Amino acid sequence: TATLALTGVTKRFPTGTTALTGVDLSVDAGEFVSVVGPSGCGKSTLLRLASGLEEATVGRVDVDAGTSSYVFQDPTLLEWRSARKNVELIGELSGLPKSQRQKAAQEALDLVGLTGFEKQHPRQLSGGMRMRVSIARALVAEPDLALFDEPFGALDEITRLAMQTELQRLFRLKGFAGLFITHSVAEAVYLSTRVVVMSGRPGRIVAEIPVPWEFPRP
Ligand code: ADP
Ligand code: ADP
Repeated sequence: TATLALTGVTKRFPTGTTALTGVDLSVDAGEFVSVVGPSGCGKSTLLRLASGLEEATVGRVDVDAGTSSYVFQDPTLLEWRSARKNVELIGELSGLPKSQRQKAAQEALDLVGLTGFEKQHPRQLSGGMRMRVSIARALVAEPDLALFDEPFGALDEITRLAMQTELQRLFRLKGFAGLFITHSVAEAVYLSTRVVVMSGRPGRIVAEIPVPWEFPRP
């Protein structure tokens, strides 16, 4: 079975807006699927449905993942906690012993290139580093499914390129199923195993394009 499957999904909000209609989409383990499309076509709504933050009005959303994690466009870090304490948060909430969650947080921070910055607070870090903390916090839970809502949209272009390479490396290393929203077609093609194109209001999937080639590994 797919890690994530949306079948015949329509989402209508209480305001009367129908954000999505007739959406069929599945993401298997080992797939990294990007979603592109103009503002307002329902990309964020699709991701929130996949995460369980919203419920479908019509249709089914099936998630076959022990753990899923969500990375927002804004890193949403706790400003009063150090980078490591931010990454430890999930472990704290799930009652993991202190030594274990410190070890896991350190490993996750090492993976995203933040060795030596563990004790810094978010405001002492650059935009790219804050996003790295946010990604470390998502991946420390070893998710089967990782959802990304335009995580690099607010970064400058150089940082963005570095983060794309970084994320591709993490995906290959960890093997989670990924669903990634972006406004950048180039980013979608670079990162993904498949690109989904959405359009219209309400939004629909108008094309699904497999990315058949392998980019050189970083
Ligand atoms: P995108 O991410 O592609 O920009 P969204 O999923 O954010 O699109 O929004 C799709 C449509 O649904 C838009 O018309 C938006 O205004 C509407 N919408 C999104 N969230 C809500 C909400 N919580 N309540 C009412 N309308 C919403
Ligand atoms: P994005 O630019 O990432 O697509 P949006 O600006 O569309 O994000 O939406 C940001 C937030 O505002 C979301 O949480 C969404 O649910 C909410 N939202 C968007 N449109 C509406 C709306 N018409 N009514 C109520 N909430 C909305």
